[in-house]
Parts: sequence; structure tokens; C-alpha cells
Amino acid sequence: MRFIADVMLGKLARWLRILGYDVLYDPKAEDETLVALAVNDGRILLTKDRHLVERWRKKLRQNGYLLLTSDDWREQLKETIAHFGLDIQNHRMTRCPDCNGLLEEVPKESVRYKVPFFVFSAHNRFAHCNRCGKVYWAGSHYERMNAALDELFRELRNHSDNS
Ligand SMILES: [Zn+2]
Repeated sequence: MRFIADVMLGKLARWLRILGYDVLYDPKAEDETLVALAVNDGRILLTKDRHLVERWRKKLRQNGYLLLTSDDWREQLKETIAHFGLDIQNHRMTRCPDCNGLLEEVPKESVRYKVPFFVFSAHNRFAHCNRCGKVYWAGSHYERMNAALDELFRELRNHSDNS
């Protein structure tokens, strides 16, 4: 399942990428571009723009779309996950939140001069983005992201248990 997010949904796009989903996001994209990319590239459109959906509904039906109402990215993420039944565990941290590239594990020695020394000495496993080259490692930032996701998914489960 692949997505394209409208200009209002930058944070949602990042978090879906953190879960491992392929999400195109360009803050400068015009409506026509979004719709054309959704149709030609087989992507589901995530949008907050009701007018866009009304205007292009017929085209958007081909691959599907989700019209989000909340301004809060946490609610948007929960709604997207629930709506499409997304896998929230198995592909975390496989994609670059910045550019949507895929992360590839790289030998420790190859990142020696690309990360701060204390990071290099404290970690053994590193990955880099195959598109923008950014280096990632399982450090405190990674743990914070995972903790934030776990918290969010606890809420999601509780919510669906109650409804
Ligand atoms: Zn990247």
C-alpha cells in the first residue's frame, strides 16, 4: 500500500514513513500534481482538503483516498492506521522519514566520519538512506520514536476495545 500526502500532512507523512510505508510528500505540490501522481503512480491520496476530493473524486476513486478531519497528527495517524488496517510493527525504521528512501544496513567502518565520535563508539549497527545518504543508528532518538509509537498504539487498541 503506497500513499501520497497533501501539503497539510507533512507530519503524518513522516510518521507513516517511520512505520515503513512509502509516502510521497512535496510541500509545494499543486492539487493537479497530487491527483496526477496518485492516479499514475497507483497511490492512495491522504488529504485534509475537502474541495480537492469533491473536485477530483472520480479520478481519486481509482486508487482510493482518505479525507482526514483532525488537525492533530496523532489523530490523523490513528485514523489512517485504522482505516487501512496498516501493519504498525513489522516494518518500523526501514524508511527515511526525511525523503522516503529505503534504509540499508552499512558496515560500521563506513560511517566513521559521518557521525559524531560518541555515536560511533557507542553503537555497532548503522544504516543509511539509499536516497539522501543520511545515517541512522538505534540510539536514543530511535528509542523515543518507538516509545511514542507504542504509546499511540496502546491508545488505538483501547479505543477499538471500547467501541
Ligand atoms: Zn533519506
